[in-house]
Amino acid sequence: MTDNDKLFIGNAISHLNNKHIEVIFSKQNNVYQEHEKIKCTGYFDCKNKSLVVATGLPQKNWLPVFLHEYSHFIQWLNKDKLFYKLIENKNLQNYFWYWLQGQEIRPKSKVIESARAIQTMEYECEKIVFNLLQKNKLSILYQDYVKYANIDVLFYNVVLKYRRWYDIPPHTIQSILDIIPIEPIDDITKVIPLFNELVLKNCFK
Ligand SMILES: [Zn+2]
Repeated sequence: MTDNDKLFIGNAISHLNNKHIEVIFSKQNNVYQEHEKIKCTGYFDCKNKSLVVATGLPQKNWLPVFLHEYSHFIQWLNKDKLFYKLIENKNLQNYFWYWLQGQEIRPKSKVIESARAIQTMEYECEKIVFNLLQKNKLSILYQDYVKYANIDVLFYNVVLKYRRWYDIPPHTIQSILDIIPIEPIDDITKVIPLFNELVLKNCFK
């Protein structure tokens, strides 16, 4: 961890604590967000006022997670419309996850609408991270993070098609990193040649 990383994390924790958000660094490799029951590496819960990050993995893996969750906090603080739309409309937030867990949600357009709302909100969050990375010289490279963010947001399109979450995160697969744009994408439904094929081949057990 560089001095700049430490300084950034320290300032971010002060910012969170000043707004009465509890910061929890779990020693596990994964954490579970209550309502989704989906394994993840961190989350920001504005209702219970906590930000949780799994720090069992090396710092190069969890620092991007911390940045992402901190940026959700910024969305909450800034009263971001997309963020609040999902908090205030539970169906919009949950239909996609319920459908993924096997529930029948009809018509399917409700699932797609839910996925698009989540993707759009998530990518707005990533844009806050992009900005933080450009302003602070952290050990995470801007271009590397943009690739991760692009992969994560485009992965929802694969889920909508095949109704499966990954076993192995697609942003850990080199052949996927090799084909993904290194600049922010302007369209969350963008079709990247070979992306679906490589996810199907590498990310599902
Ligand atoms: Zn997120």
